[in-house]
Amino acid sequence: AGAGAGNGGTRYDLEKETELRFEVEAGEKVQLELLTGLAEVFGSELNRNKKYVFGPGSKVAVFTWQGCSVSLSGKTEVAYVSKDTPMLLYLNTHAALEQMRRQAERDNERGPRVMVAGPTDVGKSTVCRLLLSYAVRLGRRPTLVELDVGQSGVSVPGTMSALCIERPADVEEGYSVQAPLVYHFGSTTPGTNIKLYNKLTSSLAEVFSQRCEVNRKASVGGCIINTCGWVKGSGYQALVHCASAFEVDVVLVLDQERLYNELKRDLPHFVRVVLLPKSGGVVERSKDCRREARDEKIREYFYGFRSSSFFPHAFDVRFSDVRIYKIGAPSIPDSCLPLGMSQDDTQLKLVPVTPGRDLTHHVLSVSCAEEGEEGVGGVRRGVLESPVCGFIVVTNVDTQAQVMTVLSPAPRPLPRHTLLIMDIRFIDLK
Ligand code: ADP
Repeated sequence: AGAGAGNGGTRYDLEKETELRFEVEAGEKVQLELLTGLAEVFGSELNRNKKYVFGPGSKVAVFTWQGCSVSLSGKTEVAYVSKDTPMLLYLNTHAALEQMRRQAERDNERGPRVMVAGPTDVGKSTVCRLLLSYAVRLGRRPTLVELDVGQSGVSVPGTMSALCIERPADVEEGYSVQAPLVYHFGSTTPGTNIKLYNKLTSSLAEVFSQRCEVNRKASVGGCIINTCGWVKGSGYQALVHCASAFEVDVVLVLDQERLYNELKRDLPHFVRVVLLPKSGGVVERSKDCRREARDEKIREYFYGFRSSSFFPHAFDVRFSDVRIYKIGAPSIPDSCLPLGMSQDDTQLKLVPVTPGRDLTHHVLSVSCAEEGEEGVGGVRRGVLESPVCGFIVVTNVDTQAQVMTVLSPAPRPLPRHTLLIMDIRFIDLK
């Protein structure tokens, strides 16, 4: 590997079952082109003589089952070929899941529901993407359930979502998102409100099961659930809860034997728990790197991929026209709770937020909840259970005029007036 490719790039000749791994330097771009043979990026096939561009910070593996040559141009932080990959094990996992789908088809049963678990930076999202791409390439329609509130592959951070996969992820852009089902969680770690996290997991499971009842392809396709890297204490309990809510058949544990043994011990015996190695190519990401990825995801929501395809709108919203809530009141000692109320209730309570300067830069979810459903004590029913129809960012607050300026993907007016505040902030630099 490493000879000049003529177009200023470096040519790599890859033997079968090897991969070229590279990382793009900050502020740089790298171009990849498949010259001969067949290759894929995380399960999505490359087209020959098409130039794929990867932006700053991208960490990519080009894998080939049959052998290929590719050219790489631009500034890479690292670029090397590895023969040592767990891809064959991942492919075998896919084959086993496909076997289950075939059986489900034959016996009029449901297809495999798979939970992928493991600590952070072991390649969970990558394994999910691989399994989904392989399934969809065989004509299946699996569902991705994204429970990683820190690094969502589907929507902005702070959300939990489900997406029916109809084509392999785009090599550069990832999932092309058509109508995902998205719930507002509000922060980047499940620990900020574990009750809400578990409740929304259950809501997603319920909606998915309902869909399976009316859509045979979705039922046979099954689901692949991506989880958070928090695998201890309440994080572990959340995994057990998820397994039970979705009635998973298979759990893939990446890289951690302890977690594997705990789940084997605690899940019903008919759940197949499988330990898989992580790929040596998975790169550990720093806190900053994660923050940047989150920021990028929000920017992408408003401006489109590479900030080029969407044109968001800025307009004023009168405080009197919206109701802003935060989910979850700060916990108070049990002894101070009103009679008949438990901590659960406080974590799931809708707390009205009085608009002020401190709203600036916050991301707000626009709830799909029906308007005018005031329940007891002004608490709105249905908001927690309702998906969101979009997001806005508060860019300015004028307390004198009682208005806030927002960045929105669509022109005014807002489609709904119930807004849920996230802990997450976004500073719009455009
Ligand atoms: P997790 O979901 O467990 O946090 P990810 O799947 O997001 O981990 O992987 C972490 C990073 O490593 C991602 O940027 C991904 O693109 C990269 N990555 C995964 N597998 C490989 C590989 N084989 N070679 C190079 N980079 C990889």
